[in-house]
Amino acid sequence: MECWICGQPGTTGEHLIKASDLKSYFGTVSQQKPIYQNSEARKNLSIGSIKASSKLKSAARLCAKCNNQRTSAHDKAWSKLSSYLQDNLRTISKSGEVKLDKVFPGSIARDMKLVQLFFVKHFGCRVISDGVPINLESLSQAILNETEHPNVYISFLNVSAQLKHKYAGLTPIKAVNINGVSVFCSCAYIVGNLAVNIIYCTVENNQKVLKGAKKPSEMNKALSLGVL
Ligand SMILES: [Zn+2]
Repeated sequence: MECWICGQPGTTGEHLIKASDLKSYFGTVSQQKPIYQNSEARKNLSIGSIKASSKLKSAARLCAKCNNQRTSAHDKAWSKLSSYLQDNLRTISKSGEVKLDKVFPGSIARDMKLVQLFFVKHFGCRVISDGVPINLESLSQAILNETEHPNVYISFLNVSAQLKHKYAGLTPIKAVNINGVSVFCSCAYIVGNLAVNIIYCTVENNQKVLKGAKKPSEMNKALSLGVL
């Protein structure tokens, strides 16, 4: 299978939840101290290695260059924001605001574009594995040219439910199709009490359906934190 970003032979798969997010949330994972995966296909599948387990990766294919060098700045920007959000979630929940200038002082526009591109890669992999009818060209072009994707919006949400066990997961893509093409999709990326809502929307005048999700060029110093 070809890399969906550049068309070269696709030899790697992207972690569905970023490996660094899983590691910092679950700590050391080993055969003796596994985590358990639940999916429609399988319940309580024991996983003893975050890095090596193919079960944690998307079925969509990427070449090594696109999965590593080409997108490493995007991965790093998300890692930085993710750590900040996890470390400060309680304070952020109280104020209801994510102060982006604390994470990316002087470079909010550039770094939030890189964060968006991390989620464009994630979303593109999910579009393929879930068979969502979207032309991938605009997603791959945004990554190749390192430019903001005009139709991908993100927001951060506090998961208000009390978790009985440590939990990380994804919600299925909800899509609205017109003439066989998805014009609106939403899905969430959840690690503990933090969820990232990812919305793809090609419809104009869409403020209501976006529920506060924004693209990087619309973001200011402070982003409001929603509740899931
Ligand atoms: Zn590639």
